[in-house]
Amino acid sequence: MNQHHIQVKVSRDRFKNNISHIRNIVKPSQLCVVMKANAYGHGLESLAPTAIAAGTDYIGICTNPEATIIRNLGSDAAKNIKLLRLRMALPEELNESIESLNIEEQIGSIEAAKYLSEGGVKRGKQIPVHINIDTGMGRSGFFSNQIEELKLVCGLPGINIVGIMTHFASSDGKELDFTHKQIEDFYKARQALKDYVDNNVLTHTHNSAATVRVNNESNRLVRVGAACYGVRTSQDFQNPPELEPVMSVKTNIAQVRKVPSGKTIGYGSLFTTQRDSLIASLPVGFGEGYPRALFNKGIVLIKGHRCPVVGRVSLNITTVDITDVPEPVRWGDEAVLVGIQGHEKITFEELADKFKSVHTEINLMAGFMNQISYV
Ligand SMILES: *Cc1c(COP(=O)(O)O)cnc(C)c1O
Repeated sequence: MNQHHIQVKVSRDRFKNNISHIRNIVKPSQLCVVMKANAYGHGLESLAPTAIAAGTDYIGICTNPEATIIRNLGSDAAKNIKLLRLRMALPEELNESIESLNIEEQIGSIEAAKYLSEGGVKRGKQIPVHINIDTGMGRSGFFSNQIEELKLVCGLPGINIVGIMTHFASSDGKELDFTHKQIEDFYKARQALKDYVDNNVLTHTHNSAATVRVNNESNRLVRVGAACYGVRTSQDFQNPPELEPVMSVKTNIAQVRKVPSGKTIGYGSLFTTQRDSLIASLPVGFGEGYPRALFNKGIVLIKGHRCPVVGRVSLNITTVDITDVPEPVRWGDEAVLVGIQGHEKITFEELADKFKSVHTEINLMAGFMNQISYV
């Protein structure tokens, strides 16, 4: 299907360059490129081979179908790449994981640990697992003071503790005090287990924001999602300039109209022209993944100028005020929803900030609803 009215492009080269850059920053740590949620909307099946070619040690996933997509890519590298599940698994997921998908699972409870242990013993294998320690995220895992339980887990047969991990709650925030407290708690627990796990166990705490902001010396593995796609990792910290956005979204103008002063535009008549205006009508709306919440707030690039979205975003139409564009604007001209045009740029994170969301949510909407072309 060739969509003429919207172009969602993903650059494999940029994705690869971002991963290479991150690998260089974190060396000698290993890297897990996080590709859950269909690679944050960028397309798991299309980008997983790129991540593997770029030399990632692990791919982070959440669901069994995601793991299946990778295992079925067809190459030996894809059959053998280490997969790390980034949440607790359901019992049924574990059965399939042990049997065929070979996902390295997190363990956050004695119950799950015993389940995996029995699965390993029954099949005569040592299942590689990662202990999840909750140091403040508060979603799952063992609390960092459950040392006796953790020791018990380390002694179970049929599993091999290859990693000990924690996840940061606010490494993207302004203050990093809580993150440093989490690191301290994590290494206390790690130390308490030193006689119970292999010395080479992979300690891993860092997500994207922490990887670009916080010392990484003690980590043996980092789990990086957002930074690989070139989106901002923290509102309070600039990404290294080498990390470039991977996805762009463009459309073309379906009509240019002269609208007199005092007319209302769109559903609910939420915008009234304050002057004789030029309004461009774009053939995309929230049906194409352009967030409805951007009414009277979004910005679109036309002829290299930042033009405001006026009125409600409809299901398949968005209206933009182009009165201040000095060049003539014509039917069919390009409009950039996310990306670069001339000297101007609009990022997913800029749009997300306008309605208190996160870039990933818009990535997902744009990526899921439109066929992505890979360049
Ligand atoms: C999603 C996820 C990450 C990656 O987070 P980014 O901020 O996108 O780098 C890392 N670790 C865990 C446990 C996750 O769930």
